[in-house]
Amino acid sequence: MPAHDTRLIDLGKRYWLPVYKPRELILDHGKAARVWDMEGRDYVDFGAGIAVNALGHQDPDLLAALTAQAHKLWHSSNVFYTEPPLRLAEELVGASGFAERVFLCNSGAEANEAAIKLVRKWAAAQGRDADKRVIVTFKGSFHGRTLATVTATAQPKYQEGYEPLPGGFRYLDFNDADALAAAFTAGDIAAVMLEPVQGEGGVLPAAPGFLRRVRELCDAHGALLVLDEIQCGMGRTGTLFAHVQDGVKPDIVTLAKALGCGFPIGAMLAGPKVAEVMQYGAHGTTFGGNPMAAAVARAALRKLASPEVLANVAAQAQALRDGLAAIDAELQVFDEVRGRGLMIGAALAQAYRGKAGEILDHAAAHGLLLLQAGPDVLRFVPPLTIGADELAEGLQRLRAALVAFTAACPS
Ligand SMILES: *Cc1c(COP(=O)(O)O)cnc(C)c1O
Repeated sequence: MPAHDTRLIDLGKRYWLPVYKPRELILDHGKAARVWDMEGRDYVDFGAGIAVNALGHQDPDLLAALTAQAHKLWHSSNVFYTEPPLRLAEELVGASGFAERVFLCNSGAEANEAAIKLVRKWAAAQGRDADKRVIVTFKGSFHGRTLATVTATAQPKYQEGYEPLPGGFRYLDFNDADALAAAFTAGDIAAVMLEPVQGEGGVLPAAPGFLRRVRELCDAHGALLVLDEIQCGMGRTGTLFAHVQDGVKPDIVTLAKALGCGFPIGAMLAGPKVAEVMQYGAHGTTFGGNPMAAAVARAALRKLASPEVLANVAAQAQALRDGLAAIDAELQVFDEVRGRGLMIGAALAQAYRGKAGEILDHAAAHGLLLLQAGPDVLRFVPPLTIGADELAEGLQRLRAALVAFTAACPS
């Protein structure tokens, strides 16, 4: 591998808060599902900036929307209106099939933070005492890194050392509807919050029928259903929203990641029960609904909701699964390949558990940007517009990387 500019990388090692450990390469530019580093080497992009660049890189419509807005007005705050966030809100409500109102923000954690605050405010308005405003979340979930969202995130590794954590959260096993039914008997649950497909927790889809049971239990006990579609939404699973495949109507949905396809933006969508709960002054943000972010998100929404893109998700998801099955037949590296649409996790076989990071290194050395979801799962979240040729090339590079990995790591 040609040497990367280690002096540049050293700046990150020296000056960044050391909370990240990026692979030792410096990306420079991209086009569609391909990215080039500063040495001019190309990579097939199976990670899309953590399921963000759903339209790949340098999508002409996104570029046009961003540059047009950049030449007009960058920012106004929410003290004054601009056109893009007004239109985006209407378009998100129209596309959602359940929402009446939208709160625009800048990230996933902020969208979930808004959802948590909305649940609490709603419960308060119902006359529930503070100790009866519990939000149930599920083990293996990921909802963000702010203090409230990391508390909603039912994984100790993200919480350790940040105590005291905010109260009012309870953790249950994912896909265990009976445990949820039992938990409701305590009479203190205000909402259930979950990812229709758990992302960071290992690419784990909700079991068939689980969301429907959760919805029924929420209705029976007067609780809200909050769906975190920050990773699985915006077409990733083959429908614009993941939950329509589960046949449920949520009360709140959060979006971020692919909403701006790389430009930071998040959104909380509120259904009829909660749309009027937060009134003037109850919440806010300086940057949320920024006209450049909103202009990009409008263009992104239009494309990601299109039949062409969603059909490509289905076609390339099948090609990716077929390719992974062929690799596994040859190399016996996977225990299970799971997920929905172009959100696929390959759980590593027993002998290779804990080694996802090593595989990512081999992948990068073979010209493939790949992600993990924990130490045991390879995560495939390519651009939703990835072409058949790029996908096939990415799979070839993955195979080569896994051949090198298994040779260096005999099982
Ligand atoms: C990434 C992610 C978040 C957090 O989003 P940030 O923009 O990093 O704050 C929350 N929930 C899910 C499901 C995510 O994948």
